[in-house]
Amino acid sequence: MTIKKHSFQAEVAQVLHLVTHSLYSNPEIFLRELVSNAADACDKLRFEALNNAALYEGDADLRVRISFDEQAKTLTIEDNGIGMSEAEAIDNLGTIAKSGTREFTSRLTGDAKADTQLIGQFGVGFYSAFIVADSVVVETRRAGAAASEGVRWTSRGTGDFEIEPIERAARGTRITLHMREEGLEFLNGWKLKSVINKYSDHISLPVQMEQEEWQEAEQEGQPGGMVKTGEWETINQANALWSRAKKDISNAQYIEFYKNLSHDFAAPLAWSHNKVEGATEYTQLLYIPATAPQDLFNRDKQAGIKLYVKRVFIMNEADALLPSYLRFVFGVIDSADLPLNVSRELLQESRDVRAIRDGNTRRVLTMLEQLANAATAGDADAITDVADKNATDAQEPEAGAIKEADKYAHFYEAFGSVLKEGLGEDMANRERIAKLLRYASTQSESVSVSLADYKSRMKEGQKAIYYITADSLGAAQSSPQLELFKKKGIEVLFMTDRVDEWAMGFFNEFDGTPMQSVAKGGVDLGDLQDEQERKAAQEAAEQFKPLLERLKEALKDQASDVQVTTRLVDSPACLVVKDGEISGQLARLLKQAGQ
Ligand code: ADP
Ligand code: MG
Repeated sequence: MTIKKHSFQAEVAQVLHLVTHSLYSNPEIFLRELVSNAADACDKLRFEALNNAALYEGDADLRVRISFDEQAKTLTIEDNGIGMSEAEAIDNLGTIAKSGTREFTSRLTGDAKADTQLIGQFGVGFYSAFIVADSVVVETRRAGAAASEGVRWTSRGTGDFEIEPIERAARGTRITLHMREEGLEFLNGWKLKSVINKYSDHISLPVQMEQEEWQEAEQEGQPGGMVKTGEWETINQANALWSRAKKDISNAQYIEFYKNLSHDFAAPLAWSHNKVEGATEYTQLLYIPATAPQDLFNRDKQAGIKLYVKRVFIMNEADALLPSYLRFVFGVIDSADLPLNVSRELLQESRDVRAIRDGNTRRVLTMLEQLANAATAGDADAITDVADKNATDAQEPEAGAIKEADKYAHFYEAFGSVLKEGLGEDMANRERIAKLLRYASTQSESVSVSLADYKSRMKEGQKAIYYITADSLGAAQSSPQLELFKKKGIEVLFMTDRVDEWAMGFFNEFDGTPMQSVAKGGVDLGDLQDEQERKAAQEAAEQFKPLLERLKEALKDQASDVQVTTRLVDSPACLVVKDGEISGQLARLLKQAGQ
């Protein structure tokens, strides 16, 4: 018998240490993670079997079975999904493959609550088994492989694990947990059912448990007990949440589904669930999260959209289904039209996909508009399509739930700068995106001024929307370029986001009014500048001509021109950029980026 010892990757050892030492606060999540892995394994099999039906080995009824043995103190989760080869078991259960591993470990805080969320986010769910078990045995065989190619993976959750070849007739994976004292409460049918209902009701796969019956004691005076009948019963709804009618889905179920999809522990800000009919038919369930993931600004970050075709899982991160500036959205698309063997390459070219992508984009923008309107209205109208539809759904609002009126500000803080990328990326929706933008300004410290607000406050005779780009709010506020505007009471928007300068390059006017940077060349105040000032400026230009010449000469390597200006009130001089040239702010950015 060949048992080989392997060491865990250092990061895994760290995760395990964390799991076994500090995650007792919410032990039941282990079941969610293991059932979700089993469901993923069945999805993968279904997908591979599209091109190779032999993988089913005559058994296409995919399911997860959960059983327990109080005497032996074990809990078993078994699926007939794709299974793992030896190499896959070593790889998948001994290392964290995701690129964010280093980041994961660097973000561990030692605070159990915060760290538990990280576990989900970074896809290290398998190790949550060690919250309740002091030893875990995984027996698995890959679909299509010979019975002799089974593998047993065993670990006590410390530095290493063992791998041993076994005979395994059944395809798929069986995970046996040897429970610690803290895990014994899960060796109970009722408890297991309630946890599965809470976390796994929405998955499309049957989750089954052995039926139990009450049996009276054989001897008088002895207590009776639950006895297993040997029949398996399905304990979840086992039809995909998005395929059900809206009225049959509670808010709590929508939220739980989101958490499963996103690994976010917080509830989403809004969601929208629709059956779209017409030339292209699909079901759409889209969520707007409340919190930004760490990798939001990574340009490789993929959209969190799962693609299904007629309930068959096709792929994660289907980024063809949403433009990149909406990459914060999570959701599911189930298409009735796409071929089952659709590839990423095909997706890029498909007309149906384009229609779905446009439909998704419009839907997300609509959700955002609704959130923004609720913020303006300041009322408590529900935003989600489904909220308050379900009167029987006596859901306590989650602790720390965000008020409707505050949701947009919350969204904007987390994702506003990503949304701005849309100005450059999505011409067709530029106007809608522009309406969703918010800025701080000379009249508002908070990032809450919309362009429409600005326009409604414009001075008589004002012909442009003025803005200034800067590194920070403080820098913007104290810029000498604002002096004249302040004096005349003209509002100036503060653009202090890194993307602002770039985004403004695509955005010359809003609703017929030009956007004008106050840091650029001859800011024309038009009718706002009175005749007297104009004259004074002309006279000064004449009077100071010799001085200007000398300054130009002295600064000839630094400045292309030196002019007299009326825009300053307190400061003697300021730097401006010629119209059509990149601004100082962008120049600094480019320099930072090594250009
Ligand atoms: P994630 O599910 O996010 O990939 P996990 O830690 O939950 O992370 O699982 C790690 C990997 O182990 C999975 O990606 C999968 O390859 C493998 N795995 C876990 N459980 C199973 C299972 N029941 N069947 C097949 N593979 C599994
Ligand atoms: Mg998982």
